[in-house]
Amino acid sequence: MKLLNKTIDQCINRINGAYKGYLSPKIPKQFTVPFIEEVSNQIGSIPEFIDHHLRRDLPGLAFSNPLIVFDEITREIAGEKIVAQFEKIGAKPTPCNVASNSIVEIERILELGLKRFTGLEFNCEISTSTFDQKYGAVKCGEKRFDIIYGVGGGSVIDVAKYAAYKLNLPFVSIPTSLANDGFASPFAVLNLGKDGTMTLSANTPLAVVVDTNLVKSNDPGYKRRIRSGIGDLLSNLTAVLDWQLADRKKQERYESYSGFQAICGARLVMKELQTCSDFFYDDRFLEILACSLMASAEAMSRYGSSRPASGFEHKLYHAYNELTDFKPVATHGELVAVGALLSSFAHQEYHDNLRQTYEIVGLPYNGQGLAECGIKLDVLNAAIIQAQKVKPDRYTILEDCGPKHLQEALCKAYPL
Ligand SMILES: [Zn+2]
Repeated sequence: MKLLNKTIDQCINRINGAYKGYLSPKIPKQFTVPFIEEVSNQIGSIPEFIDHHLRRDLPGLAFSNPLIVFDEITREIAGEKIVAQFEKIGAKPTPCNVASNSIVEIERILELGLKRFTGLEFNCEISTSTFDQKYGAVKCGEKRFDIIYGVGGGSVIDVAKYAAYKLNLPFVSIPTSLANDGFASPFAVLNLGKDGTMTLSANTPLAVVVDTNLVKSNDPGYKRRIRSGIGDLLSNLTAVLDWQLADRKKQERYESYSGFQAICGARLVMKELQTCSDFFYDDRFLEILACSLMASAEAMSRYGSSRPASGFEHKLYHAYNELTDFKPVATHGELVAVGALLSSFAHQEYHDNLRQTYEIVGLPYNGQGLAECGIKLDVLNAAIIQAQKVKPDRYTILEDCGPKHLQEALCKAYPL
């Protein structure tokens, strides 16, 4: 039976090979990108759209038993509609409502997805941390589904993406929020209980489909989500400054194309914001934002780690998270935007552009802005010290100049 499970898994691996990269001497660096990446406000039925693409371009791939993961909110926005659209094209979708991005929810999906829960396990191939090793083993065995769709914001996408990774199944990302670049990235942010919130390696999605009609909303949190997405994107500017610094200090080699890919969207969005008056609801702007976040995720896939989109500002975010018991009031995008502004002062680059853009967008550029997002200056100060323990092997402005320099930058960026 074990042998049969392994054989089935190898076959699935082969199919996944259509988008799953590997390293080999013949192909020195084959990176992975989603097979389908679409952003539009005229997609119509997403199942039909993907089915059409796969039939036309990858006729060997057909999926008839999808698991559709959503939460209570996105069930109403899109989940139920997508389930009905699947039924219309003759597939047998299984809906799955998740409550959070906890490891318990992942285990629940694994139980639902595996015909025999006690599948074979082996170490994940792209593990980068001890947590990847601890949680990243892939569950093999016969599955009830042949593909997983994540329909929702960050948490839903993370749960669906990671469950797909553990079940060794293809994953399709249908974001209903553009609050960060996670919807297209090969990483999943999970709540691991006593181990805190962690970013773990997962697979690149087979497809990412952004229907801006599903993203736009009138709910009170909508503008904050868009702002956060812009913040996460702009933070690539300082992440790349850190990467270039690491290269100059002979700590890591900078890859100019991945670096360029990570920052070109940030620069374009900054430029667009100068003239676009209603950027929260402008379809063209939302398309640019979505594509830029996808490019950021692709830069990470290309390089094989989060390096192109994560420098000191992301260390600060993780440290701030820890200091607030993983329950910060501010969003990921807001915190990394604040970290990016500190970093820009420390690097002495981009600070005027960033401040001006934050003012347009409504991201924190002064003490009042910090307070409105629920970010506390004393916690930020402590987080700068704490950030030295986050990914200590990733060389950034913090390692280069020390925490005092960053605390001074905090005073300059957010004077009392
Ligand atoms: Zn980020």
